[in-house]
Amino acid sequence: EACTQMKSIYTAYCVCKGVFLMLIVDIQKKLSHFELNVKFSVANEIVVLFGPSGSGKTTILNCIAGISKPTAGIIRLNDTILFENKKVFVPIQKRNIGYVFQDYALFPHMTVWKNIAYGMKNESFAKELMKELRIEHLRDKYPSEISGGEKQRVAIARAIATEPDALLLDEPFSALDDQTRAKGHEELLRIHKLWRIPIILVTHHHEEAKKLGNRILYLHEGKIHDNEEM
Ligand code: ADP
Repeated sequence: EACTQMKSIYTAYCVCKGVFLMLIVDIQKKLSHFELNVKFSVANEIVVLFGPSGSGKTTILNCIAGISKPTAGIIRLNDTILFENKKVFVPIQKRNIGYVFQDYALFPHMTVWKNIAYGMKNESFAKELMKELRIEHLRDKYPSEISGGEKQRVAIARAIATEPDALLLDEPFSALDDQTRAKGHEELLRIHKLWRIPIILVTHHHEEAKKLGNRILYLHEGKIHDNEEM
């Protein structure tokens, strides 16, 4: 009850600020050993996609980003249909969605600044992001010259610099030590407070899911169970 009330106050706030975004995912996809059949929506909140390895989490992100095609269904961001059965398939470069890959996938031949500037919309915003993420001093370094935690922050900055309408993060903290991970959690929460875009974060860590998620979607046997007791 209280939760529903909170959610509607929050929704009203977003609408009145004019920043309300809604990502709707209702897709089926045949995978090698099972069939995914998921339906969920994400507003200006952090939704954690939680489930064991091989349960289809990355596949869902790839479908949203446009890297992979669902077998059927619909994906909609506000009024824009990104995918609909055999009728609509908006290609990856035309979807305004940020994606932080599990291995970060930075361009190895480009400096930190070139990586971030690659798809940025606004230079001063990109610089502000670098300050926020404490990577200003790394601007002329190459990915091979920086640490794992720094790479992860560059990957996040690169994704947000494109000013996406939604942000997807695939196990962004899994390769980090405990201290760096805790810092990463704080940074992500602060970024979300500042830029309030819908975020889907994939993890298989209990504590991380509870700490970061406004909501947790538990993926089990190809289906999603909302707010499952963990
Ligand atoms: P998770 O991210 O939860 O670890 P994945 O989405 O990477 O899971 O993979 C889920 C399962 O789907 C794996 O068993 C994988 O082999 C299979 N799979 C991934 N992509 C495809 C595909 N395009 N076609 C068929 N099977 C796939």
